This record gives sequence, C-alpha cells and structure tokens, in this order.
Amino acid sequence: MISEVGEWATTGENDVFLWKLAWRRQLFVWEEDQYGQLISLLNSIRWKRGSVDKRIWGVGDLKTYTVGSGYRVLNEFASSTSGKWFKELWSLKVVGSAQLCVWRAMLEKLPTRLSLDKRGAAVPSNLCRLSKKFEEAAQHVLISCEVVQNVWDNCDRWLGISFVRNHYIINHFQSFFLSRFSQKINVFWRGMWVAIVWEIWMHRNKIEFNSGIVDDVEIFTLAQLKVWSWNKFRWQSGNYCVSDWLLCPIIYLQNTS
Ligand SMILES: [Zn+2]
Repeated sequence: MISEVGEWATTGENDVFLWKLAWRRQLFVWEEDQYGQLISLLNSIRWKRGSVDKRIWGVGDLKTYTVGSGYRVLNEFASSTSGKWFKELWSLKVVGSAQLCVWRAMLEKLPTRLSLDKRGAAVPSNLCRLSKKFEEAAQHVLISCEVVQNVWDNCDRWLGISFVRNHYIINHFQSFFLSRFSQKINVFWRGMWVAIVWEIWMHRNKIEFNSGIVDDVEIFTLAQLKVWSWNKFRWQSGNYCVSDWLLCPIIYLQNTS
C-alpha cells in the first residue's frame, strides 16, 4: 500500500505526499543518487489523497493485463527500428544501472525538469541544470547542451577522429561506431557512449540534488575510468593499464577486444 510508505503533509494550499521509504541497510554513496532519481520519478506522478491503490494496464481498452496484450506489445517493440538499438544496448558489456539509465533516456522516460513539468510535478523551472539555457529535455541535457557538447568533443579529440553526429539520442548512439573496426571492438566502444550518458545524468543529478558544480572535464574523465574498470575488473578482458587506455584508446581497443 502506498499509504504505508509515506504520509501526507500540507504546505500552503497543497497536499504533498512525503515518502518515508525504509531500507534494510544504510545506502552507499552511489545509491543516494539513485535514491534521488527514484524520489523524483515517484514525485512525477500526481497522488490523490484518500484514493485506493489499484493496478492499471495501460494497453488496450480492458485496463487489465492479459498475456496476449503483453505479447503484442513486446512484438511491436522488437520489430520497430528502435527495438534493434535497444537489443544492441542490452548486448553491451556495461553495468546494469548504466544500461537502465540509457534505456530510459532512449524511451524519453528520464525525470528531466521538462518531463516532470509535463506530468504536472512542481518543478522550480524548466531550464537545463547544466547550461541554465533551453528546456531540460533528455535530448538536450544528454546530447545538445553546450556543456555536454564539450564532453562529446573531448571524446572525439581523445580518439583522434572527428564525427558529425545527429542530435537525436538513438541516432547519436548509432553514430558512435568505428567503421574500420570489428563488431567486437565496437561492442566495447559503445560502452563508452553508455558511460558518458550515464555520467552526464549523474552529474546533472549531483547539481540538482547536491548543489554540485558543472564540470565537463570531470564527466568525461569519470566515463573514461568507468569503461576501463568495467573492462578490467568486471569482464576481465583487459590486460592493459589505465594509462594505455587514457593515452592511446585506439591501440588499447585493438589489443584488448
Ligand atoms: Zn543545457
């Protein structure tokens, strides 16, 4: 029951539902960021005082789940163009929370200020938290924003190849591909795209929830280190030290993948 994990409070003329989620252990530092995301996602829904909890299946007219309707949704999703890219995303060797963040971004389900505002949540402003210019849509804050453009440019400079990229999230992901290299190398390389997007979003949350300072170099450096550590420690497929990766990514990719 929703009413068991929080309580109503009145601020001014509005009723506000305050979440009181209990955890079995204290949260780790990196989980606090996810907690902030969870709360902003929950707050994006308008809760009604006194209403009774119920589940609604949002597909078809019945409003109740049937195996047939679930199967139809999955089939339509898998056969769409974006379905191909989602499949590719899930095949990458990256951590689950990063995949989940990117997946939500591709579906335009990240709780950006613009999407929260559209869903009726009280947000102080629609403006991007990084540049303080333009509405904060996922496509803006992850790809087009002038702050994150520096991150993507840094990545191109680091690799030594320049790219012209589309600003739509899925197309941008699509363009993050090294045509001269094997599929195996590209599976690794696309992990860098996921790491950058994830780091941008976490950086944005740090600013939104913890008064952080905008730093595009930090975003890029953390993404570089993350990909290296995933490869080295999680998949144990890298025998090269971090300085090789930071100094000559192309050679590292060729030798590692
Ligand atoms: Zn911006």
